Amino acid sequence: MSGLPLDADLPWLRPAQQAFEAAGAADRLGHALLVEASPGQGGEWLALWIAARVFCRTPRAVTGVGMGPCGACLDCRRVLAGEQPDLLTLRPIEDSKEIRIDQVRDLASELALTAHAGGRKVAVITPAERLNRNAANALLKTLEEPPGKALLLLVTGEPWRLPVTVQSRCTRLRPRPPSEDELVAWLQLQRPGSSAVDWRAALTVIGPQPLTALGVDAAAMSLLRRDTERALEEAVQGGLDVVETADRWGKDEYALRAACIERWIADRLREWGRGKRALPAPALFEALEHAREARLWAETPINKPLAMERILWRLATLRPRS
Ligand SMILES: [Zn+2]
Repeated sequence: MSGLPLDADLPWLRPAQQAFEAAGAADRLGHALLVEASPGQGGEWLALWIAARVFCRTPRAVTGVGMGPCGACLDCRRVLAGEQPDLLTLRPIEDSKEIRIDQVRDLASELALTAHAGGRKVAVITPAERLNRNAANALLKTLEEPPGKALLLLVTGEPWRLPVTVQSRCTRLRPRPPSEDELVAWLQLQRPGSSAVDWRAALTVIGPQPLTALGVDAAAMSLLRRDTERALEEAVQGGLDVVETADRWGKDEYALRAACIERWIADRLREWGRGKRALPAPALFEALEHAREARLWAETPINKPLAMERILWRLATLRPRS
């Protein structure tokens, strides 16, 4: 869990919090919500905030949102501690990357029982894109007719990976995408005294996932980025041992390296657009495509050193125009 308190301010989530409040006030809140933010973007925190809003008996006014959970009452504290008996959470079981059908069935029978406090039950499914096909199918009936007054919250940063049948049964809560400047400012606020930390580098490597960034070693992340970029410059100059480097990167921090490479090439293309540095654009686009594929394949059993080699060779055969 994120460890953030319920009264934390995550500005990019505010529109979604506001939409939830407005829908509740107008009595047009569905019984299944698709929270379109990954756990690292605050999606899980938002789901807990909503759950606490449902259970909290002493809600308070929140600027720019409407009302929110107090964060201090017994119900709010139980939500944060994962001890609220009417709040159920489905995650991939350890060692499995999937949420499975028996988990969904268990959830459905739990929801059918009367709530401990006699009110609503809330179920959080996170990250929802990990529901496997059978589990997603089994969930359809519950999404359509949740027992009692259950509220289902599906948290995902990749809603398009959910079956359309699941998506169409949910009301979407869509936070706005935060800017990098906003995230850096937010991270500095969360970690006072971290002005020396290169948060921008950390975000480059892990993507716009501020809550994940809070948990990583930002200094190690900056080093990895610098090391990768130095090697890419060497590749372009023709001085890199491509095979050795690709082999090393394929085996160590592959996904992070791939993210750094993609960002670096995109930056070179921006320079080209501004006429600053003349690396040939068509070849850069090609290398960027290779890098994107390499990053997307991170969780598949592809030959990773080979994927790295493909990018590095493309860069090694680039030449500055003058
Ligand atoms: Zn409360």
